[in-house]
Amino acid sequence: MGYHNQLFINNEYVDAKSGEKISVYNPHDSSLVADDIHAAGQADVDAAVAASRAAYKGEWSKWTPRQRSVAMNKLADLIEKHADEHRPWETKSMGQPTMFTQFVYNYSVSLIRYYAGWTDKVTGESYQSTPGSYQIVQYDPVGVCAGIGAWNASLVYFAMKGAPALAAGCTFIYKPSEKTPIGVMQLGDLIKEAGFPPGVIQIVNGDAKTGAMLASHMDINKISFTGSVFAGKKVQELAAKSNLKRVTLELGGKSPSLIFADADLENALVHHSQNFLFNSGQVCIASSRTFVHEDIAEGFVAELKVRFQQFAQASGQPLDEKTFLGPLADVKQFDRVMGFLEVGKKEAELVTGGVRRGDSGYYIEPTIFLNPKDDARIYREEIFGPVITIRTFKTEEEAIRLANDTSFGLAAYIFTASIGRALRVAKQIESGMVNINQASGVGGVELPFGGMKQSGLGREGGKQGLMQYLEMKTITINTAL
Ligand code: NAD
Repeated sequence: MGYHNQLFINNEYVDAKSGEKISVYNPHDSSLVADDIHAAGQADVDAAVAASRAAYKGEWSKWTPRQRSVAMNKLADLIEKHADEHRPWETKSMGQPTMFTQFVYNYSVSLIRYYAGWTDKVTGESYQSTPGSYQIVQYDPVGVCAGIGAWNASLVYFAMKGAPALAAGCTFIYKPSEKTPIGVMQLGDLIKEAGFPPGVIQIVNGDAKTGAMLASHMDINKISFTGSVFAGKKVQELAAKSNLKRVTLELGGKSPSLIFADADLENALVHHSQNFLFNSGQVCIASSRTFVHEDIAEGFVAELKVRFQQFAQASGQPLDEKTFLGPLADVKQFDRVMGFLEVGKKEAELVTGGVRRGDSGYYIEPTIFLNPKDDARIYREEIFGPVITIRTFKTEEEAIRLANDTSFGLAAYIFTASIGRALRVAKQIESGMVNINQASGVGGVELPFGGMKQSGLGREGGKQGLMQYLEMKTITINTAL
């Protein structure tokens, strides 16, 4: 299996008609990874959509649920089999340490297998409440679907959007992030080998322009987007202005973590150091806004500082299996986070970090800011890097108020020994996901994942994720005839 740099349309690797190419650089040392990655223009997107529509109406529509399930399981097996060949592309393209790419690939394979089990379990409802009439509600595939992914776990977004789409009987076009297209682009051979008919799964690369072409396309029925709030709003706007395609949005976060005085401190420390620094803090659900009860704050911050400094020592070449902390994804991401560090030094007390690590590659020292001002940018905006802000609180009410004082609502974390308090507080938190006594983030593939407020729209994962790819149809039968 070689290196593929072309678009994957209608089960073939093809050159982009646009003639445009994307370059990717290794954030570990700025070396060139590839400068020949084909980027889709309008004609390419149109070709993919036409093939997707033809497949949706053609052979794919005649497949039984069982056949879809077999092909999906085969694809999962093939991705697993070739994972060690493909994973290094993520590491080279965005610096994700090898130990995490393993997690990303395993999780993606689990998602595909989970949804492969759903193909023959979509049921409907029937009603006989109106005399002379029998009513059926059935669930049909939504049609041609597109997915747009962020770069921090490219394959997870392919699977989280594509697998429920296929299970529902839809066809699927995926656009990976321009920062990390290569790993996903290698899937074409596996898609063919798994037996999917042409046009059922396609991959088009490109940046925001290509994403916008998908979001505004008149013949795409649904789009699922993972990325920033800014771009997510654009996608929804384009969807509304074109054909009102269905939209699912998985957007950013600034997730609060509340650590009460009765919490198991060692557990809280592990979750706010090791788990927070996973993927160099470039995780949408990172507990980046932490609130600690004032009675334990001093000791907690002092010990967290020690842990952050220890984890800084575990940074380095991300291809090395022992490396825990990689660089930030690229120069743009690095400049953005460095900008926040400079601003943050004026807005809060710097406990540790706050600077670049080393003088090559886009490494940043794990950073703790304490007591940010209420309107501080580092406290209000998503940084998406190894930077945590900590404030203290006195009462449960204050903790809840602080936690909810944000436009985001993706994840939240509660650390306490009291199950009563945990459930009481969880009920009042405005967030799509609440974790108690853990900040390890991602739950099982069977669980809904997504946010409230400006963190998103709809859910992915689990049965709820599948339902997003189905349209309800109400059929009424006159039983008098
Ligand atoms: P981004 O919004 O810059 O880009 C995400 C994707 O959208 C890329 O593929 C990009 O090419 C595309 N895009 C950008 N502008 C577009 C437009 N106008 N129309 C259509 N497509 C467009 O985000 P990013 O830097 O890749 O990822 C980081 C962000 O993603 C963070 O905010 C993070 O919190 C969020 N994220 C959310 C989740 C989640 O599940 N909620 C998961 C991971 C990342």
